[in-house]
Amino acid sequence: MKNVEELVRAVVQSGAKKIFLQLPEGLKTYMTDIVWALNNVGIDCVVSAEPCYGACDLRDKEAEMLDCELLVHVGHNKFYKAIKTCLPVLYFTWPVSIEKDKIEKILEKEIKKIKQKRIGLVTTVQHLDNLDEIVAMLKELKKEPIVGGQILGCWTRNAKKIDALVDCFLFVGSGIFHPLAIETEKPIFIMDLEKGEIRNIEQERLEARKRKMARIEKAKDAEMFGILISMKPGQVATKKDMEKIKKLLKAKNKKFIFIEMNNITSDKLLGIKVDAFVNTACPRIAENKFEKPVVNMDELDML
Ligand code: SF4
Repeated sequence: MKNVEELVRAVVQSGAKKIFLQLPEGLKTYMTDIVWALNNVGIDCVVSAEPCYGACDLRDKEAEMLDCELLVHVGHNKFYKAIKTCLPVLYFTWPVSIEKDKIEKILEKEIKKIKQKRIGLVTTVQHLDNLDEIVAMLKELKKEPIVGGQILGCWTRNAKKIDALVDCFLFVGSGIFHPLAIETEKPIFIMDLEKGEIRNIEQERLEARKRKMARIEKAKDAEMFGILISMKPGQVATKKDMEKIKKLLKAKNKKFIFIEMNNITSDKLLGIKVDAFVNTACPRIAENKFEKPVVNMDELDML
């Protein structure tokens, strides 16, 4: 329970006596342990049960309404762009260090799948602590690792900055959402720490591209668009975004309405008389199932 102890220490240091806690789905099993540990040192706690997929999603207004002094956001790093909040935020990343032996075994067995020499390493915040070990192991295996660092599903600048220096990328972690966001012509591999394998995600990239083109193609015939705006602080569309979308749609003789919500889900959009939607929030939303086509705002010029 090292993470719980460190989290409690960080909260105690902040001096807050009542906190608001946000946890991603995967860490909700630790919810009561964290709350008991905080209560034991005299800190009151309100926990949010709303889904929380990233540091873009800060429930600071709710925390303030409940008289909390600090928002404790677990499982993510500070967001890449500044978010104005009405109370202080403590980010606790909840590092998940994988044992060296386990990584060594995966690399020994699976490295033959990567023929390229210069490997760009990227990962999620949870596994950043493992990157140094992986660099050393790859060097032993006569590879040339180059560390990019952390990436998000909506922010891959750490991959982009090393793109010209590498022959391929290796994403350390599990799940396909983050590596699919990397924009590169180079092959992308995943070192899946849960399945204990390395695999090339070329097939998934092709399928994702096809799905994207199909969404865009379907939206081309739409006359009326609903522009979806999420009120999550790191996802909310800027004035500049909205002006740009208006200009693009007007130029294509499309009509539109702006629609606000917190979590963007298909059920909330039922019955709204539009032909397609423009997503201004998290890019992963467009991949969910909707009754009408959804395009991301940066795809609008392809209509
Ligand atoms: S906007 Fe989406 S991809 Fe970016 S941090 Fe938030 S949940 Fe993750």
